[in-house]
Amino acid sequence: MRYQGREVDIEGRVRLVMESALTARDRVGVQDFVLLENHNSEAAFIENLRRRFRENLIYTYIGSMLVTVNPYKELEIYSKQQMERYRGIGFYEISPHIYALSDNTYRAMRTERKDQCILISGESGAGKTETYKKILLYYSVTCPTNDRMASLGDCLLQSNPVLEAFGNAKTLRNDNSSRFGKYVAVQFDFRGAPVGAHILNYLLEKSRVVHQNHGERNFHIFYQFLDGGDNDLLSTLELERNPQKYQYLVKGNCPRLSSVSDKNNWKVVMKALPVLGFTEEEVQKLLNIIASVLHLGNTQFGEGEEGETYITTEPHITKLAKLLGVDGSALGEALTHKKLTAKGEEMISPLNFEQAVAARDALAKAVYGRTFTWLVEKINQSLAPKDELHRSSKSSTVIGLLDIYGFEVLQQNSFEQFCINYCNEKLQQLFIEFTLRSEQEEYETEGIAWEMVKYFDNKIVCDMIEEKHKGVISILDEECLRPGETCDVSFLEKLEDALGGHPNFVTHKSTNGKTRRVMSREEFRLLHYAGEVNYNVKEDAVLTCGCWGFHSVQVMCQSDNQILTHCFRREEVMDQKYPEMAATQFKNSLMKLTEILVSKEPCYVRCIKPNDAKQPGRFDEVLVRHQVKYLGLMESLRVRRAGFAYRRRFEAFLQRYKPLCPETWPNWHGALVDGVSTLVSHLGYKEEEYKLGSSKIFIRFPKTLFTTEDALEAK
Ligand code: ADP
Ligand code: MG
Repeated sequence: MRYQGREVDIEGRVRLVMESALTARDRVGVQDFVLLENHNSEAAFIENLRRRFRENLIYTYIGSMLVTVNPYKELEIYSKQQMERYRGIGFYEISPHIYALSDNTYRAMRTERKDQCILISGESGAGKTETYKKILLYYSVTCPTNDRMASLGDCLLQSNPVLEAFGNAKTLRNDNSSRFGKYVAVQFDFRGAPVGAHILNYLLEKSRVVHQNHGERNFHIFYQFLDGGDNDLLSTLELERNPQKYQYLVKGNCPRLSSVSDKNNWKVVMKALPVLGFTEEEVQKLLNIIASVLHLGNTQFGEGEEGETYITTEPHITKLAKLLGVDGSALGEALTHKKLTAKGEEMISPLNFEQAVAARDALAKAVYGRTFTWLVEKINQSLAPKDELHRSSKSSTVIGLLDIYGFEVLQQNSFEQFCINYCNEKLQQLFIEFTLRSEQEEYETEGIAWEMVKYFDNKIVCDMIEEKHKGVISILDEECLRPGETCDVSFLEKLEDALGGHPNFVTHKSTNGKTRRVMSREEFRLLHYAGEVNYNVKEDAVLTCGCWGFHSVQVMCQSDNQILTHCFRREEVMDQKYPEMAATQFKNSLMKLTEILVSKEPCYVRCIKPNDAKQPGRFDEVLVRHQVKYLGLMESLRVRRAGFAYRRRFEAFLQRYKPLCPETWPNWHGALVDGVSTLVSHLGYKEEEYKLGSSKIFIRFPKTLFTTEDALEAK
């Protein structure tokens, strides 16, 4: 086949596509979806993905966006030689690759002196984190180095196993699934050498600390510690090796993994921590906290005659308090009583059994979650630029990498899915704004009339979630602060009051006309840009735990464990301020992220998982279609094709097609625009098929281009 083995020249991208037009297009598909003849057809889109996947061509563009399909096998496309091939070469001149995108982003940063960001999304197991690592690898190999680079590269590489130990877990979908989102900003000096980095973490899935579904595990670090820790260390902390002894580890009934050695990874983590600047004492305190979470999980409660709750594992709580560095009786009280402040007076009342269990779990989640944040801050200290000059962002430019969950739709969706989907909703809004703006700008500079296509502007959904007083988040916060017992029902009622008439909001009451499926009384439905999702409010930990988590926070503020002192600030309780509510906290961190992202030039990587069995070579069409939908790919394609499928600079276009016209062959001596004009009239382009800008030709339909390319091929 001609497609294979041919040298890629400067026009290579066109040639690859076009040769496939004649000979192999049916086999390998098009490498840019904008060249699909029927760009509104989801079936054609998926067929194109499938063909490419079959040929191990896992990368395909939608304009400047990169779509990847997880191959679930090692491909020989990431070597140093490959990196060299992609270095400095035009984005479209060579087959699609994550290196092409990385290189293009890097060069845009260098030449335009403007911050960039790469947004990676996709569902769990789709290959986001692998993509993130490949980008880092590309930069660490191809960028110029300086003294700092050696140690920075080391720190960045060492931070991966530590973050993964504390933030990743085995799930049904991915044995090493990141249970948090991250934004990593890599800073470059004026020579283009990396000088520092900074990590922001989002949305650690804290519920995993206390509960795992069948076949899943808690965070790796617990198993690593129990498997790899010294005998002495474990016995000092009164830990047993067998994970099945711990309530917080048994739920998934899956203590071991065949694909991973916890013991080896433990060694890797323990080696990495000192490199990242953790002192021996800090490591010790960190392990105390890990141990205390396990002991907390084994804390049991009994119910007295009058319904009061007491702790049945009494000696154990003393041990636990010591590990947490707090007073034993205060801890005991916080786990069994709630504290309310009414009219300036503190009132203490007992928790019932279920509430005590919830308070215990809330504490475990808070301790683990805040420790994770501390860990990231600590890593950031070692990644910070050493040079004073680069501390201020003025003297350097940044490439940000965002590795965050894509849209998530599970059988049961709760607060965590809500946050993830809200985040994606925001990212989509950024995408729309940015793409449309840049398309528009290009048309303007080229002097071409802007023609709008139809697409769904999801601003309406973002507003519905964010709006003050009547948005989903502010109502959620209000409910969390109300010390009621069953917040869920009134929460739904309030939502119904505030949003009942909203076109993107549905409950069982308002189903008429908007939806066919009958909904339960415990859920509400949001019509996101990518589709509809039902959120269940029943027993949502966010709704039920907010009110009595405060008591244990007060106790934790007294801790003499230096990590916990850092995590639980005294100001938090001294101000008599309730801890910032989870939803608002998330909203604010998302606002900040949005601010960061809008100040940069974005580009997008969308990852797709081809099957649920984690197997190579299997392309499950139903699963892929689902992701194409929820990643909003058809929508992206529509936006990207707002008008013209294809554009090319005059000189490149002339250079390639001049043999097709006697007046332009072998050379055109007049103005470029006239040359192109002569050429396309000779080729019989109709008026509605193309437009000439000031430096580029815009072609509306792929078919026009394919025909021209076929003519060239036939010559
Ligand atoms: P995500 O971060 O999206 O949940 P990961 O990046 O952890 O997914 O990928 C899940 C698994 O898929 C990896 O552990 C690896 O086995 C496989 N994988 C992903 N991307 C690639 C790739 N480009 N080449 C080979 N294997 C991959
Ligand atoms: Mg991941």
